[in-house]
Amino acid sequence: MRIGFGIDYHALAPGIPLVLGGVQIPSTLGCVAHSDGDVLLHALCDALLGALALGDIGQHFPNTDPQYKDKDSTYFLRSVYAKVQAEGYLLCNADTMLLLEYPALAPHIPAMRAKIATLLGAIPHQISIKATTTEGLGFIGRKEGIAAHACVLLQRA
Ligand code: MG
Repeated sequence: MRIGFGIDYHALAPGIPLVLGGVQIPSTLGCVAHSDGDVLLHALCDALLGALALGDIGQHFPNTDPQYKDKDSTYFLRSVYAKVQAEGYLLCNADTMLLLEYPALAPHIPAMRAKIATLLGAIPHQISIKATTTEGLGFIGRKEGIAAHACVLLQRA
């Protein structure tokens, strides 16, 4: 078995769609990014890569590469999981945490879990998504940015 973790941050700005876990969330703020800025999927990619010591998402999909401009992050997660499978591993479970002050995510978490499960050939029971605020503290509390942490466990296929 192999364990991996990943973290991602993005700045928030008005007038940008907010995409988290591959799901578009109604919000007046979205993530400033080269891709679609899906912090949750980016953290999951790094956790999956980290579990097999395959480097990080920036090495596999450089944010200076024009082919990844505004890219749907489901592409990154699918590609990373294909690498995991090529190494002979499968996902046991993923546990994730989003840190954000706004918007409220609870109504959207079932759809995000279902989407990620589909992308990883898993069932929602294997995918945990939790969310917390920072009680108004720091840049997250000021709604200047959001963060995601992810932890995965893999087993030999
Ligand atoms: Mg990112």
